[in-house]
Amino acid sequence: KRQVLNYEQGDVVLRNYTKTIYRNLSDGEMITRLGGDNFVMLVKKESLREYIDMLSFMNIRYDDGKVSKDFIFSATIGYSSTVGIRYPREVMARASIAYSAARRVGAGHVMEYSENIKQELMKIQGVLSNFMAGLMAGEFEVYYQPKVRIETKEIFGAEALVRWHRKGRLSTPVEFVPLLTNDGSIIKLDYYVLEEVCKWLRKRIDMGFEPLRISVNFSRKHLEEKNMIGNIVALIDKYELDHQLIEIELTESEDYQNFELITEIVNGLRANGIVTSMDDFGTGFSSLNMIKNVDLQVIKIDKSFIPLEKDYEGKDKDLIMFYYIIKMVKKLGKETIAEGVETEQQLDYLREVGCDAVQGFVFDKPLPAADFEKRLACGYN
Ligand code: C2E
Ligand code: MG
Ligand code: MG
Repeated sequence: KRQVLNYEQGDVVLRNYTKTIYRNLSDGEMITRLGGDNFVMLVKKESLREYIDMLSFMNIRYDDGKVSKDFIFSATIGYSSTVGIRYPREVMARASIAYSAARRVGAGHVMEYSENIKQELMKIQGVLSNFMAGLMAGEFEVYYQPKVRIETKEIFGAEALVRWHRKGRLSTPVEFVPLLTNDGSIIKLDYYVLEEVCKWLRKRIDMGFEPLRISVNFSRKHLEEKNMIGNIVALIDKYELDHQLIEIELTESEDYQNFELITEIVNGLRANGIVTSMDDFGTGFSSLNMIKNVDLQVIKIDKSFIPLEKDYEGKDKDLIMFYYIIKMVKKLGKETIAEGVETEQQLDYLREVGCDAVQGFVFDKPLPAADFEKRLACGYN
């Protein structure tokens, strides 16, 4: 970030900010600074709206005769009623819970405390604070969902999907992956999954089985990681595996800067013989650009694009789009696989339009390693 003002000048701006608010206070109301740019206010209920409006757009001027500059501040606000509360610390705790919730939504948001928000925050903190211990204790398990060729019903690979044995139940990624992504811990989890997959492949090879390619989901957070390619290669080499046995699934990128980073990563992985795929194709922002410019080997078509067998409005559009997506991706020399295929009828349709690989409940849900091994032994016939 570019520094606009020095510390002393910044203090003046903070003071001007506080003074501006202070001038509006009525009897019994107050404002105090917690530190940094965090403030606490105690205001009358009937003027709450007015303060929120004021704080969401405050123009503060810095002017010392030499430098003159205007700043617009839009406060992120959490608030709570004091009704029925006996201790000041209790109302502070509530306001601060509401503030955390507002911040999670994004800068400039306003949130009122509620029991729901508190529960939500406790759930989040529970996930984040138990993550490392859970990882060390082996609470995370890798499940494998087969990838199948429609024509032959041959299993040619699988996707590794993580599960968390937590508090006596099996927790699925929706419950923790987004939270770990926000917090950055997802990077550790992804490497854990990759290592488990490498161990499993090593074991299979040592037992004399023909190994198959396993894909691992790598969060977008890895874009911020230094030496991602080196780390992945080192793990695969630690288990002395052929690099082609590992596929890294990446999702589409929203902005151009990430887009360039993804290109770099994909090229780096490919230079090392590691397969890359685009996950959830069709749900993101720059799908076609990604396909055009990034040298991904596999395109995984998201389940929202797979036409359902029953009639519904817009089905004809879905059919057209799916048909030409398959055609286009194949013409570009990439592999396609359809995700989330659930029924035999869908399978028939996919076969007709020339899609040759699927992953979905129609064959199997994600399976624990032992069940996946059984499936590999008996197949689908
Ligand atoms: P994804 O990578 O797109 O994985 C496919 C998801 O679709 C899986 O959900 C899978 O169980 C589900 N699925 C497969 N076939 C069907 C079907 O026929 N019907 C329906 N309705 N669903 C099907 P899951 O395992 O709950 O994972 C959800 C998402 O969590 C994944 O979506 C992936 O984005 C993320 N995830 C899972 N494991 C990891 C991981 O180790 N690291 C990271 N970063 N993300 C992960
Ligand atoms: Mg995936
Ligand atoms: Mg997907």
